[in-house]
Amino acid sequence: MFGLFSTRPTLPSTPAPTLRLHNNLTGTLEEFSPLTPEAVTMYTCGPTVYDYAHIGNLRSYVFADTLKRTLIHFGYEVKHTINLTDFGHLSDDGDAGEDKMMKGLKREGLPVSLSAMRELSDRFITAFKSDIESLRILPPTTWARASDYVEMQIRLIETLEGKGYTYETRDGVYFDISKFPTYGKLGNIDLNALRSGARVDINEEKRHPADFAVWKKGLLGWDSRWGKGFPGWHIECSAMAIATLGKSIDIHTGGIDHIHTHHNAEIAQSEAATGKQFAHFWLHNEFITIDNTKISKSLHNGITLRHLLDLGFTGDDYRYWLLTAHYRSPVNFTIEALRGAKQALYRLKRHVFEEYRGVKAEPDETILDRFATLIGNDLDTPGALALVWEVVKSDSLTKTQKYGTLLAIDSVLDIGLSDNPEDGARSLGIIAKHELPLDVQALVDEREAARVARNWPLADHLREALNLKGYSIEDTPQGPRVSKAT
Ligand code: AMP
Ligand code: ZN
Repeated sequence: MFGLFSTRPTLPSTPAPTLRLHNNLTGTLEEFSPLTPEAVTMYTCGPTVYDYAHIGNLRSYVFADTLKRTLIHFGYEVKHTINLTDFGHLSDDGDAGEDKMMKGLKREGLPVSLSAMRELSDRFITAFKSDIESLRILPPTTWARASDYVEMQIRLIETLEGKGYTYETRDGVYFDISKFPTYGKLGNIDLNALRSGARVDINEEKRHPADFAVWKKGLLGWDSRWGKGFPGWHIECSAMAIATLGKSIDIHTGGIDHIHTHHNAEIAQSEAATGKQFAHFWLHNEFITIDNTKISKSLHNGITLRHLLDLGFTGDDYRYWLLTAHYRSPVNFTIEALRGAKQALYRLKRHVFEEYRGVKAEPDETILDRFATLIGNDLDTPGALALVWEVVKSDSLTKTQKYGTLLAIDSVLDIGLSDNPEDGARSLGIIAKHELPLDVQALVDEREAARVARNWPLADHLREALNLKGYSIEDTPQGPRVSKAT
């Protein structure tokens, strides 16, 4: 692994690979350079914690993690915030639809109160963090929980009001997009089409259909000068990004569904309040479908990581499968495809945990440069995985080079190749001979003796005896490999 500030020697004719990212603000691939040399600031829109995250949601966080690890690989320190929306997020990202947290309270038979919301979200925050851990996602520098930042959100709304960007209605306070002439610049939103295509009704007091609530009045919530209520969903991200990372941040991530409303709203609020450019790079992951169908609560097809773990898959299997596609490609999930990923990863891990046990690790710099070129090309994870296989199959690299290179690559992909080989082999169900019960060890030895003596009927008979005891045996150039039969 190398860093931007490391002293790795490079030949003048081979410049160090650069990091280029697809910035949705400009719609182009841009070379990344941070706002300040100290640390890259990165904000990721987090989950609404009213239910388990589905595997589509989790793509957003594996993508952000890959980006963060890539930045670290390129020598940057990363200051990262993920928010946790624990109140008042409507199921539609405009101002319509049912409030997701209310939906969660109803589902769980909990009363409608701030403390019940806290209780509900505590539960799903724990579940979310456990998913994050299973997927080997590095925890952010700050988990920003919306209900802990209400004060900042109210202050931000007051600033916007003071600068004339908002107007009050009977049901809330709205951001007036006509006061922010570049509204909709992310993704080039056509505001005229929005106006003509707007549904009648919603809220007659709104001046433009794209104006959005920064405060919602209600019987429940926090006190403010506009009465009791909740901050709007969009203001939460602006307030927490500014509070935890500063007025101008390097990178903002989220799923593509956020571009249209949520992220344009974040830009408008933040920039109107601070007078500074909010995020310099905007990156978004594409969506996952399941069996070619959109993931939707109403279709009840929102598979969770828990479902996959119950089926015998691991977080690594899902992470590997995700990395086989580029984050900006839509992908379709099927159990068969995940099974394929599991098999490939099993072969890879078996190779690493068996072949490199006790081997020194020294990366091959030429291959690492190729890796940096691939991952630095807007996170080409499919290309990086192909390179992993090339390393494994290489005839020219030594074991020491192979292991060192794979470990360095795994610091970005983190599919578990860097696990301690003994623990790793155990996690694959492979058992070292000395860890086997004595009677099983004896059967293994007898079978090996029969095999060497070419007594095939006896060797087969002993294999069956091992199977009956719940073990499977495989002959390898390093000797018999015993695993727990699955
Ligand atoms: P939410 O909790 O609805 O705000 O979603 C959390 C994250 O998951 C957001 O970044 C969404 O853009 C993202 N997301 C939602 N559905 C999918 C999907 N099917 N595939 C990929 N990302 C998704
Ligand atoms: Zn957000």
